[in-house]
Amino acid sequence: VTELRCAKCGAVPESAVAWRCEACESPLELELPAADPGTLIDTARAGVWRYRGWLPQVPPISLGEPPTGVAEIEVAGRAMVAKVEGGLPTGSFKDRGSAVLIAWLRARGAREIVEDSSGNAGASMAAYAARAGLRARIFVPADASPAKLVQVRAHAATLVPIPGPRQAAADAAAAAVGRAGGAGTVYASHLWQPAFLAGTATFAYELWETLGRRAPDVVVAPLGGGTLLLGVHLGFERLREAGLIDTIPRLVGVQSTASDPLARAFGNGDDDAEPIQPGPTIAEGIRIARPPRAPQILAAIRETRGTILAVGDDEVRSSLMDLFGQGLFIEPTSAAAHAGARRLVNDGLIDARDAVAIALTGHGLKAAAALAAMI
Ligand SMILES: [Zn+2]
Repeated sequence: VTELRCAKCGAVPESAVAWRCEACESPLELELPAADPGTLIDTARAGVWRYRGWLPQVPPISLGEPPTGVAEIEVAGRAMVAKVEGGLPTGSFKDRGSAVLIAWLRARGAREIVEDSSGNAGASMAAYAARAGLRARIFVPADASPAKLVQVRAHAATLVPIPGPRQAAADAAAAAVGRAGGAGTVYASHLWQPAFLAGTATFAYELWETLGRRAPDVVVAPLGGGTLLLGVHLGFERLREAGLIDTIPRLVGVQSTASDPLARAFGNGDDDAEPIQPGPTIAEGIRIARPPRAPQILAAIRETRGTILAVGDDEVRSSLMDLFGQGLFIEPTSAAAHAGARRLVNDGLIDARDAVAIALTGHGLKAAAALAAMI
């Protein structure tokens, strides 16, 4: 296997479906086809697989992903654009990563995927596994909200509740894969598997194409495990490599003050994040205590001269109401991006001429019960 390589020590894993470096336990990188401007777009397709020339070369798995819409919105009196990812098949940006990761794993002989998530990633992975004919086992915190698990159960994935914090579910999932052995059962963690990031990179290709083959100056996204921001960074980096843009947009990650290991590390100038004990927050999609790709996230954001902010639930709530008022029905985690963008305006962190795009990562129906209690 020469496609997978350790980002830290350069080791090449023996397993075709390794999820981390077998030598130093760091996250892996996946070698992708050359960023050739002539192969980026397959005009016969729309959505994620439109960019298959730059994706891992495997037979696609698709639920008919559309290109998501870009809406003009107002943030603190400024015009910005919002990419509305709730329009994807399972209602969140995670489908970009799942489509590519599940296709890649199936091509490598996987028969069963194991994932840990209490929300959008589990729902998305269960749907794409069903589509691909793979069994799925999703480890969830025992106290996960039942509404979030409806999609997982609908696609006949096996739910394994694990008592304790979110991290306990992750540890149990990785241990279960170790016990199963064999290449048929694979740890398909969206936080670890690099093919997932190859998929979320299509956010950048699509945004660039929708904006008339231009990159915005700034991209703002909710930040938990970094699966969107790292994909966006990869995508714009490849567009630059191909000569299709001159500069990678400044990337702004928005965390919750209840779970802000990356914002703290960024502020301290650290190269890695210390794990934290997350508190409760309505932005549950970014409640990640120990992001395995923290060093990569911090390096990517610094390289683009971006920043990491942390916003409180009161700011998220006010952004939600603001966006509802503009006709956009999104889940609370998505509103964190709006709250971050508002902070950029109010604190003078962006220039009046900067073109800003914000990622609205998930559909409001995902959190209908929580929202019903809020409005
Ligand atoms: Zn290594």
